[in-house]
Amino acid sequence: MSIESMGRFVYGLDPKKREQKRQDYIKHREAYLRRANKHYLKNRQSCIDRAAIWNKANKKRRNKILLKYNNTNHSRILEMRAKTRERDRDKINEYSRLWHKAKKIEVYSFYSKGIPKCACCNIQEIEFLTIDHIEGRKKFGHKRGFSGSKLLKWIIDNHFPEGFQILCWNCNAAKGLFGNCPHRKKMEVVKS
Ligand SMILES: [Zn+2]
Ligand SMILES: [Zn+2]
Repeated sequence: MSIESMGRFVYGLDPKKREQKRQDYIKHREAYLRRANKHYLKNRQSCIDRAAIWNKANKKRRNKILLKYNNTNHSRILEMRAKTRERDRDKINEYSRLWHKAKKIEVYSFYSKGIPKCACCNIQEIEFLTIDHIEGRKKFGHKRGFSGSKLLKWIIDNHFPEGFQILCWNCNAAKGLFGNCPHRKKMEVVKS
């Protein structure tokens, strides 16, 4: 049976018959679910494929169904989500640690145009390095806490915009406190 004819078969029934079917379903719900589950386990891939086709062809309808499901099962969903999070906590932590490490290298390399290093003192230990908003956070509307993974993600999502550089904690703090890093001042003294 094709998807289209299946749709007609299920939804084309007259309202009375549909209601009858609904009542039948409610009455024998357990048995139906058992049978459906058995069918699913036996024909997993074809079920998934069929569902994908239906979802694509019935986007609006699917959204409506999902919304209704979410609304009626809100607390249960939250509970289940918390349970899964608790169960997979180690895995999730490990994943976000790896994500952070990989993205840090990607973003820092981009702004250092190669091996990540402090744009002021050239220090290369990545543990010492931070992202500096060259003209301050206000320019991008970034609050104080907007750093770490959040900032990395923002930079990637915004396609690596100009206005950032990599600095070490020392040079970054000095720039923040004194408006300029002592390294720079020394260099200027040497020059003049
Ligand atoms: Zn530095
Ligand atoms: Zn410096």
